[in-house]
Amino acid sequence: MAFIHISKHNFYHNLNQLALKAGSKERLAVVLKDNAYGHGLTIMAALAAEYGITQAVVISVEEAERIRPYFDRVLILHGPPFPDEVFTFAVTDRQQLMDLDPAARIELKVDTGMHRNGIAMDELEGALSIIHDRKLSLVGVMTHYRSADVLSSELMWQQKRFEQVKRTVRTSGYGHVRFHSHNSATLLRAHHFDEDIARVGIALYGYNELPAPFDPVPLRPVLSLHARRTSTRHLSPGARIGYGGDHTLTRPMTVSTYDLGYGDGWPRGDAHAPYTVPDGSPMLGRVSMDFISLEGDSDTRCILDDAQAAAHHFGTISYEMTTHLSPSIPRQVQEEEDWGLPTPKE
Ligand SMILES: *Cc1c(COP(=O)(O)O)cnc(C)c1O
Repeated sequence: MAFIHISKHNFYHNLNQLALKAGSKERLAVVLKDNAYGHGLTIMAALAAEYGITQAVVISVEEAERIRPYFDRVLILHGPPFPDEVFTFAVTDRQQLMDLDPAARIELKVDTGMHRNGIAMDELEGALSIIHDRKLSLVGVMTHYRSADVLSSELMWQQKRFEQVKRTVRTSGYGHVRFHSHNSATLLRAHHFDEDIARVGIALYGYNELPAPFDPVPLRPVLSLHARRTSTRHLSPGARIGYGGDHTLTRPMTVSTYDLGYGDGWPRGDAHAPYTVPDGSPMLGRVSMDFISLEGDSDTRCILDDAQAAAHHFGTISYEMTTHLSPSIPRQVQEEEDWGLPTPKE
């Protein structure tokens, strides 16, 4: 079966870089939603906890339960709030405030311009009075930026709006809550980080989707994907490979089949513009549900060691490349420093 290696060394390198940006590791909340962006939820939780991270963010209660033992606090972005010692819950609309159990610890999400989730700025005072009247347990106030990874003044505009939110919350008597708004791109752009936590996702895993003009922070890909050989054949010129026979050999070639396909979350792509694996070999013909063809006969082949480079090839982003990888592919942590893959990007 295909397998995934997780480089502990590269993950800790990224955490070091991000802790420097945030001021301390206590201010990093690791975003582990969607199977830790495809890296493996409990593997990444255990590694983060061993490093000394105490806070995490996930999307669902189901994910939160699986990582409960590793963290002091887990923020659940999308789940029905209930009282819990470890979990806090993002609350994104007024009705939820009316319905929820007052003992549940909540973090109010305010819509400062992304218009996806959160209470509108002009509903904030109303929301705070419901919180006050119902004696709800408000522990945080948060927002999310729509354009942190774009070279424009939009981020500043939205950040000013969040400063306004903070003033309103503080003057309503909730000065003790934690405030947070930074995702990876916002933290990587920040010169003076002064909020309580940053919610970092993609940068943990080694990717920085900011355009080139921003000061680069050296990050290293944490995940590499490998496939195993299932068979080998020696083919003559003219042989056509895979469904549709889309690839025709122009010279004699040793071709092997490897056990990875679109059923494992690898993109099917376009056989006429093939993806090239890190050793320089293009995939031959169409990607099948469970198999690909490559020249050569090595027992295992590295298929991916830089999801951002692969994402460029497939016209997507690093987030989608890694989150699509099937949870049933075995993930294995590499402890040693010089395991050879992936190559540091800096
Ligand atoms: C996914 C998510 C993040 C992390 O974003 P990255 O760009 O991966 O750092 C932060 N906050 C919220 C609310 C999110 O949904």
